[in-house]
Amino acid sequence: MAPIRMEAIILKRIDFRETSVILYLFSRQMGKVKCILKGVRSGRSRVPPLAFSRGSAISAFFYSRRSELGLLSSPCLVESYQMESGKNLAAWHVALGLVNLFTPEREKEEKLYTLLEETGKLFTRLKTPEILFVSFKIKLIRILGYGVELYRCVICGGKDDLLLFSGKLGGTVCRRCAGKDLTSVRISPGVLNITRRLEKTDFTRIGMIRRIPGEMLSKINFYANITLGYHAGLSRIWWEDEKSVLFNNHR
Ligand SMILES: [Zn+2]
Repeated sequence: MAPIRMEAIILKRIDFRETSVILYLFSRQMGKVKCILKGVRSGRSRVPPLAFSRGSAISAFFYSRRSELGLLSSPCLVESYQMESGKNLAAWHVALGLVNLFTPEREKEEKLYTLLEETGKLFTRLKTPEILFVSFKIKLIRILGYGVELYRCVICGGKDDLLLFSGKLGGTVCRRCAGKDLTSVRISPGVLNITRRLEKTDFTRIGMIRRIPGEMLSKINFYANITLGYHAGLSRIWWEDEKSVLFNNHR
């Protein structure tokens, strides 16, 4: 099969055998793909390590094979998204992990590729990685088609008394419909307002939001997580590493 020239961001990397690596990529051309890149960890390799490191944007040739593992060759580094702070780097890696966890294999989604590129760039300069991270997650949920509706009741369409949030239905639920979806949990008007503001702010201007109290941001993140969690049906705890992003405010 002819190779495909691919632009991709490396979501995850696993060292394999003596000199190879297995890479999980999110590519513009094919969505998420898993592939092997051979011989790059030997001293004789001319491929720079950043061209096969997590978080880098690369350009490479991809050969589809019968196995789910494609073959990658001749990777070039396009962008390495150098982070100034360890917290930004940690948040970027957690964001990449979410994409790896929640996207299906080989389903092209150009919007998500663009979102990842923008997110990587923003992480290199923003001083508020925790706000960017939660905003990224809301955008990811939207692209995956799981929500989020914040202005109407997802059951009756009413605009008043939006007191609950349903992860299952992906949005707010009104007082009258409270009994119709038992998975719904309460959302306070204050948290709802900030979630709306975060959702409405153009992603590239997210740096304008200087501060969201940590407790509120964790709640917004929680509503996002119950939405993702419902759709993913994962039984294991997948949000553990988010704590370092959301709760450690010292750099
Ligand atoms: Zn309702």
